[in-house]
Amino acid sequence: MEKELLLMMPGPVPIPERVRFAMSRQAINHRSADFGAAYADCVRVLKTCFATKNDLVVISGSGTAGMEAAIANVSRDKKIACLVNGKFGERLYKISQRYGKATEIKSEWGTPLNLEKLKEELENGAEVVTLIHNETSCAIKNPAEEIGRLCKKHDALFLMDGITSIGGDTVEVDKWGVDIAITGSQKCFAAPAGLAMVSVSPKAWERMTKNPPYYLDLAAYKKSASGTPMETPYTPAVPLFLALREACLIVEEEGLPARIARHQKMAKAVQAAAQAWGLTLFPKIDKLHNYSSTVTAIEYPAGVKDDEMRGIVKKMGIIIAGGQDHLKGKIFRIGNMGSVGPLEILATLAITQHALKKCGYAVKGDGVGAAAEVLG
Ligand SMILES: *Cc1c(COP(=O)(O)O)cnc(C)c1O
Repeated sequence: MEKELLLMMPGPVPIPERVRFAMSRQAINHRSADFGAAYADCVRVLKTCFATKNDLVVISGSGTAGMEAAIANVSRDKKIACLVNGKFGERLYKISQRYGKATEIKSEWGTPLNLEKLKEELENGAEVVTLIHNETSCAIKNPAEEIGRLCKKHDALFLMDGITSIGGDTVEVDKWGVDIAITGSQKCFAAPAGLAMVSVSPKAWERMTKNPPYYLDLAAYKKSASGTPMETPYTPAVPLFLALREACLIVEEEGLPARIARHQKMAKAVQAAAQAWGLTLFPKIDKLHNYSSTVTAIEYPAGVKDDEMRGIVKKMGIIIAGGQDHLKGKIFRIGNMGSVGPLEILATLAITQHALKKCGYAVKGDGVGAAAEVLG
């Protein structure tokens, strides 16, 4: 068997032992009080992480299933304005094209979104707006609150992918006016991959399409979840629900504010290391946009080869991510989602620093030391 590697990529992330053990048990009936209690625990904690009183359902499927559910249930044949500044924004646009009349509001990957263009689209009748809150491919945090304000002003539905922010960063679904928010189990919640969690506002329920998809029909999930015991319409991925419940209990024990502060601190430490090394953070931010608190994207210095650098890091036991699509070879990304603490961050940075040197880059300063200063 391959040696266990430390996953310091932006999902999936290491799963705490308690969470792994929670799913190692005999099968249970999914129409039982036992399952219903697990589902209820998940929803209780998830609502605090989303900061919402809206309905919230859990779908068996990865984050993308949640993205498709959001769009397919409210956007059919409607005008959709898709904000895109990275890989996942593109994905929401592609899904939107399958269901409605989608317009892409495109910025270079990792650069600020074009809100002027969004205003134009809203004035021209866009009924739905899609946003990636934390664009994982470029490690940029987009201004969700501002975009929520614009949607409210024009009475458009606001669909937000919070897959790498919810549970690890500040998200205020109700305050920001997010009509459908989505997250996934394998990112900030540090649970296994395979569940999508979706909140739905009263305004979104009012505007549901008359011909929803079958498996991803949000109204069916709501109906099953509103009985006693709580259920899902079809057989769910029961072991994953049990694992997610345990992961949610860990979130509750740590306390959401402390969890968010920890994520922010870890990201700051990685940013400090990059700066000390003399490297450039990839995102180009402005007053409204910010660096991500859950993943950091760093530009490769000239001459350092992606495969070689990350290969050295992997050989020493840690997986960090490269760039996606046209950013392959241009950036590398270090994730800090889930249960990651100073130990994992400092090990990752020490090995990365070593790998950068091995690949011929003369680091300007001690990145590991700079990170340690942030952490302790
Ligand atoms: C990981 C991720 C997704 C979902 O991807 P899946 O592989 O379907 O779980 C969606 N959006 C963002 C921003 C992500 O980081």
